[in-house]
Amino acid sequence: MTAPKTPSFAVQPQIVPIALDEGQRGYDILIGAGLLDEAAAWEGLPKAAAALIVSNETVAPLYLARLQLRLAAQYARVETVLLPDGERYKDWASLNLIFDHLLETASDRKTVLFALGGGVIGDMTGFAASVYMRGVPFVQVPTTLLAQVDSSVGGKTAINHPLGKNMLGAFYQPARVIADLDTLDSLPQRELSAGLAEVIKYGPIADAAFLAWIELNLDALLARDKSALAYAVKRCCEIKAWVVGQDEREQGLRAVLNFGHTFGHAIETGLGYGEWLHGEAVGCGMVMASDLAVRLGLMPGEFLPRMRTLIERAGLPVVGPALGAQRYLELMRVDKKAEGGAIRFVLPEGLGKAGMHAAPDDLVAQVLASHVA
Ligand code: NAD
Ligand code: MG
Repeated sequence: MTAPKTPSFAVQPQIVPIALDEGQRGYDILIGAGLLDEAAAWEGLPKAAAALIVSNETVAPLYLARLQLRLAAQYARVETVLLPDGERYKDWASLNLIFDHLLETASDRKTVLFALGGGVIGDMTGFAASVYMRGVPFVQVPTTLLAQVDSSVGGKTAINHPLGKNMLGAFYQPARVIADLDTLDSLPQRELSAGLAEVIKYGPIADAAFLAWIELNLDALLARDKSALAYAVKRCCEIKAWVVGQDEREQGLRAVLNFGHTFGHAIETGLGYGEWLHGEAVGCGMVMASDLAVRLGLMPGEFLPRMRTLIERAGLPVVGPALGAQRYLELMRVDKKAEGGAIRFVLPEGLGKAGMHAAPDDLVAQVLASHVA
């Protein structure tokens, strides 16, 4: 009789199951400190002759060797392709480097792709996996807080086009997400704060108790306390999974994840991409959106100082760049959520619930006047 095969974890990971199509499809998100060294976390992945790790020149020196070691136990051939680091390389040329490597090594349609890095690597690897031989499996190994709480969950993959961010992509779900919290130790503080903006976002739109928890535990999160991070990443993944489970292709509800993003995108585009990090723009955008929610009577007055204090404590900007109200309005009108000229915002409707709301330009201008340098 053979012994039953039960994976044994040295450190028990949190597991968030993702169910799609009412449970017809799904995968697990594993969250824990030390998962890169935890053989059990890597068992049961799709079988294949080869694996291809996609990473970049910043992350590879830190974590590639350990991932290679894990994968060598299951795949006869473990290939690696390293891309240049940065949002400006999230393009066709980098995507082609992945395809070149796959084709030059005659990789077949079972080859499993592993995305080792932040959201840029995750989005590109996912898109490459969706297209190569009409679709090969891929695994997300997110190494930024933003990627662990947001971009690795939900199945959106994309690259940028010179005329627009994330304009070419596909909905394509990973086979597993393995989020090792220890990788966050090497993250620059500014990137950690940017990730915290997306963590904070989930409170007002979906879970009032989580917002209160973040307020209590923000210092621990900023100090990268592993149990605080474990809870935050897990709760964010649960909320995102719950939203995406009901609206995988953004027909409606999924838009609530864009709280703070309409103002935020205007900041990013107005300044030129790369000036502020996405999370920084979203942090400031949430202050503006919170004010708008108060002015529209959707939230009580105390909500604005509460959000501003939290966002500032997280190390994020709370005053927007002086682009001019007209420029902000112009930029927000081309936002994907605008319909027939009226700008629509995701706004909380009482703590823990959000919806789309149109707002008159003069009210938005008043908000901008209060929160722009
Ligand atoms: P990123 O991938 O550019 O990573 C930020 C920086 O941190 C990079 O320089 C990276 O090399 C470095 N880095 C990554 N892990 C590190 C580590 N452990 N230690 C030290 N440095 C590390 O940025 P991001 O914030 O992770 O992701 C942003 C991208 O995610 C954007 O392209 C955005 O469009 C995308 N995104 C996608 C979704 C989605 O649903 N697919 C959601 C949100 C954002
Ligand atoms: Mg975002």
